[in-house]
Amino acid sequence: MTTSHIPQQPTAATVHPFPAIKPGYRLVPAKIGATNRTSTIVYIECPNWCTEDHVAESVRNVEDILHVTGTDGFCVTTFTGNHENVHCLYAGLEADPAASDSDMRRAHVVVEDGSNYAYLTPQMAEQLADRVVGFASELRHLARTARLHNSVESGDSDPDMDEALRRVRGEAV
Ligand SMILES: [Zn+2]
Repeated sequence: MTTSHIPQQPTAATVHPFPAIKPGYRLVPAKIGATNRTSTIVYIECPNWCTEDHVAESVRNVEDILHVTGTDGFCVTTFTGNHENVHCLYAGLEADPAASDSDMRRAHVVVEDGSNYAYLTPQMAEQLADRVVGFASELRHLARTARLHNSVESGDSDPDMDEALRRVRGEAV
């Protein structure tokens, strides 16, 4: 019979497992502090969709950390004057883990024009998406009507287009 020389294993009380990270999150460094001199690096749970560099974009307090994505959007340009953008709209994802409002703590969609911010729950964002699809269809209808009108005015239309224009105008054919 051999004698076991296995060293004594640490008891459960002395084991300090690495804290489990929630699914959909990863641990990232974040810079916290009012100034560079006093700031420290801490590790925070950051959702996988977050594109913020929490070290480059340092905040004063850990409660000020926001998880965000870059925004995507579009601008509406006018053919008058300097052809500048008249309306712009952008949307991105955001979560504010320290917010008192539970909808702000959860991931939500922010739709903004550069000065006004609208905060949407996922359900509100889906409803808005449906409205935007309907609006896009109306925009195509307006463009088609304008194109037909202009082709009639300039006299380069054919009889089929004249009929199509009467149809979109709601006139009897
Ligand atoms: Zn983040």
